[in-house]
Amino acid sequence: MTLRERRALRAAAQAELDHLETQIRSLTRSFDDIVAANEQANTDDEHDPEGTTIAWERSQVSALLRQARLDREAVLATLARIDTDESFGVCATCGQAIGHERLLALPATTRCVRCAARGSWET
Ligand SMILES: [Zn+2]
Repeated sequence: MTLRERRALRAAAQAELDHLETQIRSLTRSFDDIVAANEQANTDDEHDPEGTTIAWERSQVSALLRQARLDREAVLATLARIDTDESFGVCATCGQAIGHERLLALPATTRCVRCAARGSWET
């Protein structure tokens, strides 16, 4: 990997991190709003249809928040690796180069496109 490619990847990972930070702030605000609305309504989730909706919204936002935080961890780990880890950019499964374009699009990916296609659970 060239110095120029490394620099481009660092910028892409940094942009992804900024995006995730914004998303996490917005989701945290939504979550707080839902909790506040729930407390204000003082609803019973079991019997009140409004309460059921609030509980569902809360679980949705909570799941999105959890995923965004995991993504942020992955991007932070990537930023730490870009300059220091010799194996950065190498597929964790097959050991081939992941490819610059793929890393630009998905900075935190640890697998090449062929290995990722084999296991759809991994991006
Ligand atoms: Zn691979």
